[in-house]
Amino acid sequence: MYVDSIQNGIVIDHINAGGGMKIYELLELDKLKEPVAIIKNVVSKKMGRKDIIKIDGTFDIDLDVIGYVDPGATVNIIENGKLVRKLTICLPEKLTNVLTCKNPRCITSVEQELPHVFKLTDKENRVYRCVYCETQV
Ligand code: ZN
Repeated sequence: MYVDSIQNGIVIDHINAGGGMKIYELLELDKLKEPVAIIKNVVSKKMGRKDIIKIDGTFDIDLDVIGYVDPGATVNIIENGKLVRKLTICLPEKLTNVLTCKNPRCITSVEQELPHVFKLTDKENRVYRCVYCETQV
């Protein structure tokens, strides 16, 4: 895969160094059949070091996941070799089925069909808590 010549795909750029793997895992990109490249510790004038993820294919990307890991990341949609859209990322107020509650007494541990919902309770420190038992992530 020539990572610089994506025809139709998604480029997640300006990820703070170290965040690339986390986004990869939370988006479950290992399940994609399309080629995926993570480029780590790229030298960036603005950021020092950054990670980039390139996906050679389109799929419904969960922007909340990216916003949760790194609200400063940018998502570029490439079509026919051209940048057609830049998506804005922000810190999501709510995360649904992105994280799972680790509290064994939480209702989500018992009721398997319940969605795992976390709410942003402290924007400055990016703290998320389970809406059912208030366990912090
Ligand atoms: Zn919980």
